[in-house]
Amino acid sequence: MEKLQKSDAEWRSELTPEQYDVLREKGTERAFAGTYWDEKAGGMYRCAGCGQELFSSETKFDSGTGWPSFWDPVADDRVETRPDNTLFMRRTEVVCARCGGHLGHVFDDGPNPTGQRYCINSCALELDRGEDEG
Ligand code: FE
Repeated sequence: MEKLQKSDAEWRSELTPEQYDVLREKGTERAFAGTYWDEKAGGMYRCAGCGQELFSSETKFDSGTGWPSFWDPVADDRVETRPDNTLFMRRTEVVCARCGGHLGHVFDDGPNPTGQRYCINSCALELDRGEDEG
């Protein structure tokens, strides 16, 4: 996949402060505070940094965590994972494979069929609602 490279100044001008904090600084939005944790509409969730399609609503589930959660990306090459040992935890970071933006973390306590739980910040996503939805 072709990488999207932008300067820090470009990211700062294109993203909202909250998006910049999450995508470029690996911040975490507050639980139950984002736009999509309780979103039920069908559609495609794109990266808020570069627009790449990341997660389908068909793999979204209610994890009870207050962050939008998915059991699989729309394709394996859309995201990359990296070890994250900050905050005295062993976690696996999830980043957009195209722009490198921090999306959230993935855990292995998700539902079938993958058993994965991609715990993603709402503000790292933009939902393209399906045509059948309001
Ligand atoms: Fe991206």
